[in-house]
Amino acid sequence: MSTSLSGTVALVTGASSGIGAATAISLAREGAAVGLVARRKDRLDEVAELVRNAGGTALVVDADITRAEQAAAAVHQVSDHFGRLDILVNNAGMMLLGPIEDAPLDEWDRMVAINVQGLLYVTHAALPHLLKAAEGPRATADVINVSSVAGRQARRGMGVYNLTKHGVGAFSESLRQEVSERHVRVSLVEPGPVSTELFSHIRPDVLQQSKGSFGANAQILLPEDIAETITFLVTRPARVVVNEVLVRPDASL
Ligand code: NDP
Repeated sequence: MSTSLSGTVALVTGASSGIGAATAISLAREGAAVGLVARRKDRLDEVAELVRNAGGTALVVDADITRAEQAAAAVHQVSDHFGRLDILVNNAGMMLLGPIEDAPLDEWDRMVAINVQGLLYVTHAALPHLLKAAEGPRATADVINVSSVAGRQARRGMGVYNLTKHGVGAFSESLRQEVSERHVRVSLVEPGPVSTELFSHIRPDVLQQSKGSFGANAQILLPEDIAETITFLVTRPARVVVNEVLVRPDASL
């Protein structure tokens, strides 16, 4: 049995492409009003158009969530505009691969800034709204943190990405223990490779070397596969909490 999201409000970070865009559209189809947060306004406007074409309601908020004040302002803009916040999808992230030895330090800084700090800043600002929403008739609210298989399994050439996603897992469990008695559900979603723009930021030589590392015959997931997983989590009845989901493509190592 699934429950409708009508009357709820969801904020999706990294909604301008890939998993975030697909998730926003999927949640809107279930009836949630969606706040779309990322830096590229033109791309957010396109996603908002798709949401509206699917009969949904969207608010575009262009913000760099690695800046604490912009992250907080984005949360407040969404909750002020729609009057509440029920679902937070912490999805924005970046994957820059390569050996630790001689790595460009700016790549590490950028990954830590978005995968860790951005997620923390948005969660910090959103939590009071989520706790309040959980006291309402839906009797629950949701934090979905998008981690990765890389948050479970460290591999050579992925050290700092592994570090950030393992951190997301640890933070999620700690947060879960703090808010579960107040009916905020915290879920960790751990996708394997998904066909998105994530790989476009990797240095070409590193990208070439990492090809095939998930298995010679491994398939690749679609953003919609993860969007459907997230939608499944937030449409469970309030008594059901799915805290962790690992989604690998077929034939993946
Ligand atoms: P995309 O590159 O398509 O999406 C990343 C999103 O993050 C974009 O919308 C981007 O928007 C946003 N973003 C990046 N930096 C910032 C910032 N400073 N402020 C606000 N938004 C920002 O990749 P995916 O959809 O694949 O990635 C989504 C999540 O899924 C990430 O956390 C990633 O680690 C995770 N993941 C992806 C996998 C994959 O194989 N694709 C596998 C496992 C996990 P903009 O540039 O407009 O700001």
